[in-house]
Amino acid sequence: MPVGDLPDVFTGVTAQVPEALADHLRGVRLVDHHVHGAFTEPVDRATFEASINEGSTDPVPGFMTMFDSPLGLAIRRWCAPVLGLEPFTGADEYWAVRSQLDPAELARRMLGAAGISRWIVDTGFKGDLISTPEGMTAVSASPSSSILRLERLAEDLLETGTSPADFPDAFRAALAQAAASPDTVGTKTIAAYRTNFDIDWTRPGDDAVVTAARDLAGRPHPLRLDSPVLIAFGVHEAAAAGLPIQVHVGFGDRDLDLNRTDPLLLLPLLRTLTPVPVLLLHCYPFHRQAGYLAQAFDNVNFDVGLAVNYLGPRSTSLVAEALDTAPFAKQLFSSDAFGPRSFTCSARCCGAVPWAWSSASGSAPATVRRPTPSGSST
Ligand SMILES: [Zn+2]
Repeated sequence: MPVGDLPDVFTGVTAQVPEALADHLRGVRLVDHHVHGAFTEPVDRATFEASINEGSTDPVPGFMTMFDSPLGLAIRRWCAPVLGLEPFTGADEYWAVRSQLDPAELARRMLGAAGISRWIVDTGFKGDLISTPEGMTAVSASPSSSILRLERLAEDLLETGTSPADFPDAFRAALAQAAASPDTVGTKTIAAYRTNFDIDWTRPGDDAVVTAARDLAGRPHPLRLDSPVLIAFGVHEAAAAGLPIQVHVGFGDRDLDLNRTDPLLLLPLLRTLTPVPVLLLHCYPFHRQAGYLAQAFDNVNFDVGLAVNYLGPRSTSLVAEALDTAPFAKQLFSSDAFGPRSFTCSARCCGAVPWAWSSASGSAPATVRRPTPSGSST
């Protein structure tokens, strides 16, 4: 294999994958409906390794390396060839080569190899450290769209002088502006990190919203929205504006109470929400619940992005479980790639997924279609 070429994603499993299916999937271009930017500055190895540990908020301890993890193994398997190295190259050798490349060249190689036709970029987290949607397009030649974070919007309004009394109308005006923008294709809530899902999802009246906004605005800046009233307000207003809503579900760092982010706790919301597209992100380890919700509600879709990366070789089992009950058209693709976390890796891992569908179900190739990027409403 020439240096720099990607290994074929079906290497090692060609006997199990019908050739017509493999040929079709090699040409599929995915919509990555939830991704962050690539780092725009060089990172050291400690930062790189910390970025491939989702759960811990501490540095990786010295007695271990995250290269020896399912995701680390997948990076060495799929990303090493993008750097001109052999698959499964050692961690030290991988790092020695990677650290010689500047961020723009790394992003150009990794993003270009990911086979993504459009990036839907969440700019709400550490947005000043990572590339903008325009920057993603510049290095990958694929177009980008952006996602508006509801909690960040509320915090921005109150931090920049919107009075609590004016807050409900100002929030609605900002959503209307977003809905009219060709660049913004949806919204996102991180209720999982701020209140968890076991809250009162009733749509609040403006009086209650003003009271909650006054309480938040009186705190030290930067503001951190953690009001269930403001969370429910934001989600219902986004739906009323006709905007799709992404919801962080499950897998994340230890700041969230994972046990309180089961998407079944969203049932009271889903039963009353204006039925705009709801896009459940990540979902692991609640992917089976998410699949049920995707069957139960026409407007609910979901992905297992992020976990697809972290489960490495086990990602095909994850997707098979996610499809226990879900219609195929409801399964989305996302990488949730961030900073130096591998863009290439997630896309290549996902390329193996339909093989799991077909081999697990005994489906004929003709019955297995694209991994539904077109199902994304964002
Ligand atoms: Zn994310």
